[in-house]
Amino acid sequence: MIRLSGPASLAIIGQMFRSAGSGSPSSWKSHTVRFGYIVDRTQKGLASKEAVIDEVLVTFMRSPRSYTCEDVVEISCHGGPAPVRAILALALRLGARLAEPGEFTKRAFLNGRIDLAQAEAVQDIIQAATETFLKVSVNQLKGALTLEVELIRADLMDIYTQLEAAVNFPEEKLETFDRQQIDLLIAAAGRKTRHLQESGRQGRLLKEGVSVAICGKPNVGKSSLLNVLVREPRAIVTAVPGTTRDTIEEVIPIAGVPFRLVDTAGILEPRDIIEQEAVKRSRAAIEAADLILFMLDADRGVTAPDKELLELIRGKTILVVVNKCDLDIEVPADQIRQLLPGQGMIRISALKGSGIEELRDNMARICLQDTTVNTDRVLVNNLRHLEALGHCGHLIEQAQGSLRQGLSFEFVSDDIKRAVDELDRITGRRADQDLLEQIFATFCLGK
Ligand code: GDP
Repeated sequence: MIRLSGPASLAIIGQMFRSAGSGSPSSWKSHTVRFGYIVDRTQKGLASKEAVIDEVLVTFMRSPRSYTCEDVVEISCHGGPAPVRAILALALRLGARLAEPGEFTKRAFLNGRIDLAQAEAVQDIIQAATETFLKVSVNQLKGALTLEVELIRADLMDIYTQLEAAVNFPEEKLETFDRQQIDLLIAAAGRKTRHLQESGRQGRLLKEGVSVAICGKPNVGKSSLLNVLVREPRAIVTAVPGTTRDTIEEVIPIAGVPFRLVDTAGILEPRDIIEQEAVKRSRAAIEAADLILFMLDADRGVTAPDKELLELIRGKTILVVVNKCDLDIEVPADQIRQLLPGQGMIRISALKGSGIEELRDNMARICLQDTTVNTDRVLVNNLRHLEALGHCGHLIEQAQGSLRQGLSFEFVSDDIKRAVDELDRITGRRADQDLLEQIFATFCLGK
């Protein structure tokens, strides 16, 4: 789909669209769709008519009832690269220009249709790795976070107004001014801010997920385990930006949290330059891992390569996974416990798929520490928002401290105003050009 936005959209589509009986675009009703052809009137086509580029549907939404609040025309064409490129080139020739990353969403923000937190949710929706995070992000797009932030803001503004009145009209106001009442109001605003900030632990977990490295000597069953783990249920996204296929990485949702699994194959004996590179990546994956699944096989027990590997992962959180328990062999559990005292141990068969449920439960227990994600409440997941909430909470505490120490109301009021400013950074009531550029630069093209 090719989207045009701005006051010239109708004029441009008028020069490149032919449709029986649909009249001039300026007469089009908003929110209507037309069938027709994208044509290049400077080129000759069959029977000396204008050259037809593609058969399309054109949707029109008149300002302000559109994504950007501007006149928007959407051309649904055949999705191959050739028609898309040709239609884009034609639109550019007729006066359109390419959108910057996130520019449609940025315009929706600048034109006041959505606030900054909602705009950021658009990018989260696109990048969501699990259905749970998708739900959280859609709620944010619908304004759930904004609503909570605005409620706290309204409370703070109420406090601010009372304080300012007391500062400016001390004589009349001081009699009615109730210090204790203000103290209570400030405390309540502080509680709400903290509550929102505390949702960040779950929010970040949902967004960033948990990194798990699967380690073990060759042939212990690492790829077999990765395969059974990802078989069901799969995450929406499997390829993660920034990783290549050299280290095999898959994402699976456990309890709604994306677990990124990396198979650290070939870490012990790189045979060539490519494998040396893979070793580097595997080491990095181990370094970054929140949990290591250390695989041993039931039939070979603990061998020299296992001990060598163990040196590489010492100090990390380890779950011992004894594989191939389908073989009728006694697992050398004592030997393993001696080597890895105090670590959990799970017996599985990657081949038969047994013990996998228990393994998943243990991964969740270790990494999520009994966190059950509650998507019915607002979960702040953006570092920028969390930082602003942190500053806001701190300023509220400071204001309360000043009030209790009996300092001049000016100090209290100043802190409250600065706390409001922090909240305004989240919703973008206060956002400078640099911040906007920084945020929208991370967006995909065309969003
Ligand atoms: P990796 O080198 O650690 O990735 O090991 P693979 O997953 O490639 O497995 C090596 C061999 O062990 C393959 O022949 C697998 O079929 C076999 N294997 C893997 N898991 C099991 C298991 O649970 N039981 C048995 N009997 N064989 C397994």
